Amino acid sequence: MTPTNIRNIGILAHVDAGKTTLTEQMLYLSGAINKKGSVDKGTSHTDFLDIERQRGISIQSAHTSFIWNNIKINLIDTPGHTDFTSEVERILPALDGAILVISAAEGVQAHTESLWKALKDRQIPCLLFINKIDRIGVDINNVIKELRSELNITPIIMQHVTNSAQQEANILPLWKDCSEKERLSLMEPLAEEDEELLEAFMDEHAPEFNILDSKLKHQVISCHAQPIFFGCAKNSIGIKEILNGIVNYLPSPQGNIEESFSAVVYKIIHDNSLGKAAHVRIHNGSIKVRSDVYNPRIDKYEKVNLLRKANGNSWEETKILNAGDIGVIIGLNESIIGDVLGESNQNYYNSPINMPLFTTQVKNIEDKDYAALANALQILNSEDPRLEFEWLRNEKEFHLKIMGWMQIEILTHIIKSRFNIDVKFNDPSVIYKETPLTIGEGFEEYTMPKPCWAVVRLRIEPGERGSGVQYNSIVSTDRIKQKYQNEVERTINAALQQGIKGWEVTDIKITLIGDEDHEIHSRPGNFVLATHIAIMKGLSNTGTTLLEPIIAMTIKAPEEMLGKVAHDLTTMRGTFANPKISDGKFTLKALVPLATSMDYSIKLTSRSGGKARITSHFHNYQPIEDALGKTRKYIGINPLDRSKFILWKRKAITL
Ligand code: GDP
Repeated sequence: MTPTNIRNIGILAHVDAGKTTLTEQMLYLSGAINKKGSVDKGTSHTDFLDIERQRGISIQSAHTSFIWNNIKINLIDTPGHTDFTSEVERILPALDGAILVISAAEGVQAHTESLWKALKDRQIPCLLFINKIDRIGVDINNVIKELRSELNITPIIMQHVTNSAQQEANILPLWKDCSEKERLSLMEPLAEEDEELLEAFMDEHAPEFNILDSKLKHQVISCHAQPIFFGCAKNSIGIKEILNGIVNYLPSPQGNIEESFSAVVYKIIHDNSLGKAAHVRIHNGSIKVRSDVYNPRIDKYEKVNLLRKANGNSWEETKILNAGDIGVIIGLNESIIGDVLGESNQNYYNSPINMPLFTTQVKNIEDKDYAALANALQILNSEDPRLEFEWLRNEKEFHLKIMGWMQIEILTHIIKSRFNIDVKFNDPSVIYKETPLTIGEGFEEYTMPKPCWAVVRLRIEPGERGSGVQYNSIVSTDRIKQKYQNEVERTINAALQQGIKGWEVTDIKITLIGDEDHEIHSRPGNFVLATHIAIMKGLSNTGTTLLEPIIAMTIKAPEEMLGKVAHDLTTMRGTFANPKISDGKFTLKALVPLATSMDYSIKLTSRSGGKARITSHFHNYQPIEDALGKTRKYIGINPLDRSKFILWKRKAITL
């Protein structure tokens, strides 16, 4: 039995597009709340943290649920600021469909592109909501053009917009209520994927609405078509229509209640009174209070103490969660984000939308708070693993990876309000990477002091840009048994976390080309140790090139600023294509190192009196000379300090 009366939907957008306002309107129209909140007055129902209300932005994803046309809609409002993309990314495995909100005034932003790509990569069916049709200067046709050119979407236009760019802006049905000629034109993109429709299109004979509408639904679910809805969330325009769109075109959960239980943990929060709360999406089967849940990652059963389900904008206790449900389990003390529970070997995590590009150190202002801060950072890291919290006990330092300045501001606030600790962050520094310069070998003969035996020879080669880490073995299992070869493979990623310049090593090919184990003396751990040393020796032999993050920027500014902007970009070691000029403004696309352009957006906006706009997103990592970048000291014991490293791995010394 599959649950047909549920929709698990995420609402995604660039910051300020109007997601929170739209969510508020949906809650109100469905009757889940009886008083509309407002982002501008700090009273919205989904921004519940103090800082969210003060700043008028969403930081955490917020769950709400309501009934529309007898369907239960679980809606997750996600943060729009790029610094909080990891929160968006985490909720994607919980969704069956999404609404991508775009502001008609700002159009497609760089971040909209990243979100769209993430939805497409994960094959999440999607509706688009073009909000703010009332804003002065809005050009609806231009927005549709951008959907085609920037997102490569073939839009299925659902409505007419009337009085656009005015307070009276409104919508009229189009898809449902149009002439045969208009229907033929609207259905043209669907005909590309459907022979029957192609024939009808050729014959200039549009099928009946019901047939066409069910074909649209089919293509939305298979991610071939994206219906475009319009609205003005602020004035309650287009809300009913997008709600009908969710029910009519987005899919119900695919799971089966009769199958054995499987679920994914997509979010962890620590509740002061209840402890660790694991947010889960149940894919198959069901789970009851007091039952035991199997977690294959730790090969353990954990007891379910309490279950919760979203109701309106709060959570309520429930005795059971079924396939298709989104809920909270209290009692999973060892589970972490990304864990798949029950009998399933599915992996729900795809390539990240955005990676943290900065590293920073956080310090407790008062000495007495040192241990409490370590504990707080461990908790925050379990809620956001992308922070990659590192605690250097010898140096008494705490390091985090972050996306940007806004995240520092928010973390400072959260550490104070949740844990009552005053902290200070150092200025963030760019995260570099490194890659082998040439081909070489790394060899380690770990045969003393007994008992141990692992002799490992690795070939190290530069990989193509963006290829990450590739590993294979050409050693027969007669020389090194499979179980030991598995240890070598498993160690590669950990050993590459820091290369000879102190940064993560990427775009690298590693091949196990020799050498041997020992029938009596070898232990799996010996191969872990030898692999660490062989890799570092290999990287010393090949040398490494520093890689720096490059940002893709789109700059829109008054034409008279073009010369100055071009000069700035060159000074920042940027490259750019020919600008496009229209209506006294230019649009320029540039690639610029992050290290030289960190505050350029703020500078240019202020210099232009707010007339220049920059949108940017991470592009790739590119080689630079050492002198232009930064190297970092090795954190912990460097495997090249061989004797000390061996003693440390054998637990004869501590850090
Ligand atoms: P979010 O960051 O995407 O969640 O966007 P918000 O819902 O916080 O809205 C950002 C700002 O846009 C707020 O000041 C809203 O009042 C305003 N806003 C939202 N929808 C509309 C709309 O349809 N028209 C206009 N003119 N403003 C809107």
